Amino acid sequence: MMDKKKFYINGEWVNPIKENNFNVINPSNEEVSAVISLGSSEDTNAAVKAAKKSFDTWKETSKDQRIKLLEKLLEIYNSRWDDMTNAITTELGCPKDWCSANQTASGAGHIEDFIKRLKEFNFEPGFDKGSVNHIIYEPIGVCGLITPWNWPINQIALKVIPALATGCTMILKPSEIAPLSAMLFAEMIHDSGFPAGVFNLVNGDGPGVGTDLSGHPDIEMISFTGSTRAGKLITKNAANTIKRVCLELGGKGGNIVFADSYPDAVRDGIRNVMSNSGQSCDAPTRMLVEKSIYERAIKEAADEANKIKVDLANKSGDHIGPVVSKTQYDKIQSLIKSGIEEGAKLIAGGPDKPKDLKKGYFIKPTIFADVKNSMRIAKEEIFGPVLSIMPFENEEEAIQITNDTEYGLGNYFQTEDKERAKRVAKKLRSGIVYVNHKPADSGTPFGGYRQSGNGREGGNWGLHEYLEVKTITEWK
Ligand code: NAD
Repeated sequence: MMDKKKFYINGEWVNPIKENNFNVINPSNEEVSAVISLGSSEDTNAAVKAAKKSFDTWKETSKDQRIKLLEKLLEIYNSRWDDMTNAITTELGCPKDWCSANQTASGAGHIEDFIKRLKEFNFEPGFDKGSVNHIIYEPIGVCGLITPWNWPINQIALKVIPALATGCTMILKPSEIAPLSAMLFAEMIHDSGFPAGVFNLVNGDGPGVGTDLSGHPDIEMISFTGSTRAGKLITKNAANTIKRVCLELGGKGGNIVFADSYPDAVRDGIRNVMSNSGQSCDAPTRMLVEKSIYERAIKEAADEANKIKVDLANKSGDHIGPVVSKTQYDKIQSLIKSGIEEGAKLIAGGPDKPKDLKKGYFIKPTIFADVKNSMRIAKEEIFGPVLSIMPFENEEEAIQITNDTEYGLGNYFQTEDKERAKRVAKKLRSGIVYVNHKPADSGTPFGGYRQSGNGREGGNWGLHEYLEVKTITEWK
């Protein structure tokens, strides 16, 4: 068991002011893999003080100085790739091959892309020709960065890198459930040579460090990724200090499969939802299928789900792992039961544990057919390997059902009709629309409509989140 109780504050690893131990559980075997400490207000204050002090000099650094440090960070990240994969595999239960190719790769991808964007970024764009008004961008200040467990290094890189790139200083509070990747990342930042106090890490939970950060008078901005529930609490707590609050929250995406979709559209939709054991915010967990192909689609969906292997995270090969925690396991089980009780048709998986995996938080890929959009399984974010299928009559109805949710993060649809593709994409109310399962390129903005949040992360949009805009008149 690893002792990970220290925090990274002002350029060094320090003991907590008051120890408050918390076990990090390996979801594959339910054993304690590490002990961290949950920070107190005093620990948070020490980190904020360091970040505030270092902002005075960090904000004055040149773009070139920051690019050099970020390039060093990328080099170190790539040299410790397997350590990162091991950390995420242990804390999240993510199978190691898939983890390396997707989770670990996402961190490197974001560092690389932000370096490219920073090189091209103009911090003094000026104004219209003929005007002496001058517009400049300046770093917003000390930032509190709060991240979830499901794509741990992806979310951390999407916040820490643009904050560093724009000249902000920061306190990262990673998920207490998955803090190991964050602590490894802090080591990498230290080894890259960033000045003391620019980046700080304090572990803790929502009611503790999370709340201290969102209400802190010396923090200018909170960037939060996590549940809509916590996003609401953060917004309320931040209100007294009028700080900027950027939110990346939950989702309940739809995937419309039209009759003219490409042959493997249904199977790809199942694979997409089940990857990362269903723990992705933009997973399209409601599959809407045109009536004329509905019977074929549900057969294919069940067949594909039954083909997906569930196994231990430390095994090589193509499979999904457990879900992250006992709390998540119990929540998913209760939603599977609600689907059965509300009359949806269980066509694959179900509440029983997979054979030979009695220990660990394993859940079989589960599919319900004949789901109504009013059922709990269609309304609530399940965050597990569970998919709901429902039929639709025509394009208008498919769009209406897809938009009938309080979320608006990622929607998908499958069609070979190019005109329809443009029409449907514009009508779906979400921050991203994936057509024919084509992934977004790196650096494209990611974020939600409605209760899926208000921020946009990635690329230039991600840099802008950390910047203030200043107008200076009479610039000659
Ligand atoms: P969570 O909201 O429980 O926790 C997320 C983080 O917030 C953790 O660090 C937690 O300690 C902290 N937190 C909790 N309550 C808080 C409070 N009151 N004040 C301050 N901090 C608080 O979410 P989770 O279970 O870790 O992650 C899963 C959720 O994250 C899902 O809803 C998922 O959709 C969402 N998510 C969204 C995106 C996106 O980009 N939109 C990406 C990944 C995950």
